[in-house]
Amino acid sequence: MADEYEINRHLFDHVILPVYTPADFIPVKALGSKVWDQQNKDYIDFAGGIAVMALGHCHPKLVEALRQQSEKLWHIGNLFTNEPALRLATKIINATFAECVFFANSGAEANEAALKLARRYAITQFSPYKTKIISFYNAFHGRTLFTVSVGGQAKYSDGFGPKPADIVHVPFNNLGAVRAVIDDHTCAVIAEPIQGEGGVIPATDEFIKGLRQLCSHYNALLIFDEIQTGMGRTGKLFAYMHYDVKPDIVTSAKGIGGGFPISAMLTTHSIGHVLTPGSHGTTYGGNPLACAVAETAFDLINHPNLLSGVERRHKLFIECIDKINKQVNIFDSPRGMGLLIGLPLKPIYKNITQRILQNAVQEGLLLLNAGNDIIRFAPSLIITMEEIQLGMNRLLKAIIKAISNQ
Ligand SMILES: *Cc1c(COP(=O)(O)O)cnc(C)c1O
Repeated sequence: MADEYEINRHLFDHVILPVYTPADFIPVKALGSKVWDQQNKDYIDFAGGIAVMALGHCHPKLVEALRQQSEKLWHIGNLFTNEPALRLATKIINATFAECVFFANSGAEANEAALKLARRYAITQFSPYKTKIISFYNAFHGRTLFTVSVGGQAKYSDGFGPKPADIVHVPFNNLGAVRAVIDDHTCAVIAEPIQGEGGVIPATDEFIKGLRQLCSHYNALLIFDEIQTGMGRTGKLFAYMHYDVKPDIVTSAKGIGGGFPISAMLTTHSIGHVLTPGSHGTTYGGNPLACAVAETAFDLINHPNLLSGVERRHKLFIECIDKINKQVNIFDSPRGMGLLIGLPLKPIYKNITQRILQNAVQEGLLLLNAGNDIIRFAPSLIITMEEIQLGMNRLLKAIIKAISNQ
């Protein structure tokens, strides 16, 4: 590469591994639920960095926590513990079923830890053959070879050589299918309370309760992957709290750091104790910088006003969607909870999903899809009512353009 080059979208194709196809513009700054590009054009952010920016961009309290900690201690390694990690773990434990926490850096790593823990628990407490993991079609659990193999889309795990063994996939929300494969050799069932990447598909109450019963009966651990649904996204701190069940392991990432990379695996002492010193670990996991930001994010999110605000915003989204659909009639009923909302296009409009997303960018709106025919909203949990209205006006314009030149 020459010494002189322009920082533009074109450069991406030369210098970045081509596993992504980013938008044509480059965001350079953001505040709250507004993002600006290199040309200073503004966008309303309904994507939230894929359900990560729970408190919006550059929240002043997170900026301050980051700044303060950055002048004290960034990284010290797990030969030592640190104050922010201890405080954050204590807060998580006080607010959930958990009795101990393992910190990592990404969702995939939290799930990797959960799956390794479930295997180790079953092998040490029951039998070396108790290794079967039951998962669901269209589930998404991350991109390490183990987590992508447990995930429910073969296209993401094929073509990388031999996969970890003893993983079974069955249809989501189908208890009979789980009953048909679960047995004494099963170590864990892993499920998202709402399948996120798979199309914003909520688990039914009956399904969640049935999984709990089956897992208890076969001494298998129930793992909820709450990487997308956790940290207030559904209007409760974790989505499992909507159901009257106690999981064995919960994984959290995305919203937990409010944009700073950190993840956590939550479990109980009686399960967690099977991982002994040296049996698992990570260099960066639980570093003071990440934990200080996450601790501040936790205090802000785990607050009754914030959580009830998620429900109010949900209602406004649904109202706006109804209004738009009265005009254009291209959507089936929205689904999801809180500020994880999936909007399915009617089958005959499936082919315009991408065009709507592209038009939205032109109109100044950042949106997500989930699969080919679902528009997904995962904005900041504190997006203002005005920003929701403004974004929805832009969405309507994007849709009208997409239909009219279909
Ligand atoms: C995003 C996501 C992951 C993976 O998280 P990474 O940080 O990308 O590794 C795992 N599970 C669910 C449910 C997710 O939404």
